[in-house]
Amino acid sequence: MRLILLGPPGAGKGTQAVRIAQRFGIPQLSTGDMLRAAVAAGSELGNRVKDTMARGDLVPDDVVVGVVAERLEADDARNGFILDGFPRTTPQAEALDRVFAERGLQLDAVLEIRVDEGALVDRIVKRAKEAAQRGEAARADDNPEVLRSRLEAYREQTAPLVEYYGRKGLLRSVDGLQPIDAVSERLADAIGRPRHATD
Ligand code: AMP
Repeated sequence: MRLILLGPPGAGKGTQAVRIAQRFGIPQLSTGDMLRAAVAAGSELGNRVKDTMARGDLVPDDVVVGVVAERLEADDARNGFILDGFPRTTPQAEALDRVFAERGLQLDAVLEIRVDEGALVDRIVKRAKEAAQRGEAARADDNPEVLRSRLEAYREQTAPLVEYYGRKGLLRSVDGLQPIDAVSERLADAIGRPRHATD
């Protein structure tokens, strides 16, 4: 099962990606997690992307495409994966198409968690407050100004992918404002739906 999960910041993408990964026995490949790990490790890659991430902007396409192409070669990704947070731009989606074509792979579905922007801001503010109550540091990019940049990046650079994958007949959209468990069920249904009735 080879899946992509699309959705704006705060839509619950990470939570749902983990659940899908468990349910279908595939790894969750989150570019945000990979890049944060690189920043935490102080690697060359981490130092290159740190400031961009802190602003809530997207890191350059070639950087993230390189990270993903390499990660897809790992043994655990051989039989499938769910990409969480990638692709985020049309050039990234095109690069991923080339990687798939070169390796003779096919995407099974692109899942979109749909949530409107007003609801997202409320959710992220809540998430930051809850983290603070647990005594955890909020994510560096969980503040209103950075959130605005991240939403803008989504609207301008990532949202066009909904159409991109729609044209390919791969898109499955789910209402992200339902309770978490309901969203999980809808996503599982969407994944189970065959691409063509005759497949
Ligand atoms: P996320 O946890 O998916 O929201 O990602 C956190 C940050 O990592 C984003 O705000 C971007 O700065 C960077 N990032 C993650 N994935 C990508 C991607 N596919 N393209 C560009 N930047 C990314």
